[in-house]
Amino acid sequence: MSRMRFPIKLKLTIATLIPLSVAIIICWMAGVFILHEKISVQAQEKVRHDLNTAHEAYQHELSRIASVVRLSASLPRTADAIATDDIAGLGTILSPLRESEKLDILVAVDTRGKVVYRANNPACRGDSRKGNTLVAQALRGNVTSGTVIFSEDELVAEGEALTRQAVIPVVATPRAHPRRMSVERRGMLLMVAAPVRNESGKILGSLYGAVLLNNNNTLVDAIKGIVFDGGEDRGSATMFLWDLRIATNVRTGNGSRAIGTSLSGEVYDRVIVKGQKWVGRAFVVKDWCFSAYEPIFSPDGTAIGSLYVGMQEAPYTALKKQMSLLLTGVLLLSALIGIAISGYQGKRLAQPIKELESVARRLAAGERGVKSTVDTRDEIGELAQMFNEMSSALAEREDRIQELNSTLEQKVTERTAEVEEKSRLLAKAREELIRSEKLAAIGELAAGVGHEINNPLAIIRGNTELLQIALPESDPNREEVETIFQQVKRVERIVASLLTFARRQPKRMETFSVNALLREIVEHVSYQVPLDGITVQERYAEDLREVQGDSGQLRQVFTNLILNAVQAMPDGGLLTIGTMLYDEAGIYCVQVSDSGMGIPHQHASQLFNPFFTTKSTGTGLGLSVSYGIVKEHGGQIDVRSAPGEGATFKVLLPV
Ligand code: ADP
Repeated sequence: MSRMRFPIKLKLTIATLIPLSVAIIICWMAGVFILHEKISVQAQEKVRHDLNTAHEAYQHELSRIASVVRLSASLPRTADAIATDDIAGLGTILSPLRESEKLDILVAVDTRGKVVYRANNPACRGDSRKGNTLVAQALRGNVTSGTVIFSEDELVAEGEALTRQAVIPVVATPRAHPRRMSVERRGMLLMVAAPVRNESGKILGSLYGAVLLNNNNTLVDAIKGIVFDGGEDRGSATMFLWDLRIATNVRTGNGSRAIGTSLSGEVYDRVIVKGQKWVGRAFVVKDWCFSAYEPIFSPDGTAIGSLYVGMQEAPYTALKKQMSLLLTGVLLLSALIGIAISGYQGKRLAQPIKELESVARRLAAGERGVKSTVDTRDEIGELAQMFNEMSSALAEREDRIQELNSTLEQKVTERTAEVEEKSRLLAKAREELIRSEKLAAIGELAAGVGHEINNPLAIIRGNTELLQIALPESDPNREEVETIFQQVKRVERIVASLLTFARRQPKRMETFSVNALLREIVEHVSYQVPLDGITVQERYAEDLREVQGDSGQLRQVFTNLILNAVQAMPDGGLLTIGTMLYDEAGIYCVQVSDSGMGIPHQHASQLFNPFFTTKSTGTGLGLSVSYGIVKEHGGQIDVRSAPGEGATFKVLLPV
């Protein structure tokens, strides 16, 4: 199974991408988390802060009412008018003040709490307001202020317009706290009561002033103006009577103010029921908002409503989305750039490695002197340099091996030639040994036979000569006797040859000229045998030194060679006899050549064997005897011939 390949480029890209992706994911998560936290928490924090501002604005309005009421109560004319029950006088003081200071209610009561004058509704007087906590406090000498709820009847007394203003039909919204009544007719008011004293400080009655909050958006719009810098739509402020929006700039789906809608159930439980603040997400009319609610307490300490400021979550959610998208985009872009850079770097790194791989392949395939062109200043560059050095070293080593090989081949050839020469010499030596042993054995036999035959032969010859003498010329048996005599002479010759062969005669050493000996032999031979048709050539090296040896025996050798040559040319030819200096050591060479029938290959090895002859009258002893004589003289004899091309006998003799 072949293992999967992971190219360097891929590995590098993965190695870069893993930490990059981890970093990007962490950055993304941290970024989104921080964005979320920062935006949400800061928005919520702002709303908490805004609620404080709203509270301040609320208190400021109460202070404004308080200062108007206090001022009116402190006027001596007011004290006089109450003391004297001067309604017209009170009217001239309180009516313009109420109008100019934009109070809905400005009322004077006497020490028993009975209404003396209502600036807003002068027709209604004489009813008791002692049941009102603030009025009761004022009659005891304290200036008190707070938020109070007037029942419908109380409102009717205060004036018809206020009664109408207070009416709020209940509007159902999702998640709202369920309401039992369908119309709210009570009124929520900011109210201040102050005692009216005469010059000596005696309490003569009290004044109370109030502003009805139902359907009065002045305060909430002022709060929005302060905390949300004017016309920002996403921020809003609300006044609640219990759970009901009585003044607000929160808008419903159709864009009108959401007066008559209710608090969400959970906020109601917290703020109205438990009287605690609420800071956090809340569902307001139709949207989720960053919200802050604080309970509004009546002077006796029960929560009777709440003050709200808040901001819609939607724009922040959109901002968060946009920021998250931006962050995601930036991180994705950096990831892409990372991939591109690591890919590019990977390619740059992988390219020289690929080139190295291809040159290594070429080297492995047997190419010589392969060089890499990679020249980067890093580890790959060093590798390429080392590769080039290795390639050169390899080429050098190959050269050396080739050189060694050829030297070795030459040596082997030389040694083989030497061995062949040695084995040739060995074979020749063995051949000679065998021949010498054979000759020795035959010689001994021949000597014995020759010796034994010589004596009877001498008797036969003597008697045959006697018979020839005794027989007359005309005797018919004379021819037979003559034949016997010839055959006896032949046997004598054979015996003589046998005895020569057996080397019975010792060498008689003398010094003589080989050239002279040869000239003599040629002359003799021409007398002995007819040389018809034979051209005799004699080529003697004249400067030859004389030879030491048995001239008789050597005469026999050369005569034999010349006679054999003549016999080999029955139809005539060329007979060449010559001498020369064979080598510097002073060895002579005598050469006898003919242009006769030549020697067949199969006979070549047998020529020097005793009794080998191809002639009908031959003894086969001529060459074997010659061989023996030449050896005795420390020389050599051999022949070169081919059938039909004549033969050349060569005799080497030391001086
Ligand atoms: P013989 O002459 O009595 O036969 P040799 O020993 O002188 O005995 O010669 C042996 C044989 O060698 C011869 O019979 C002949 O066949 C052969 N021979 C010798 N000399 C020559 C030559 N010059 N040319 C051809 N054959 C030769």
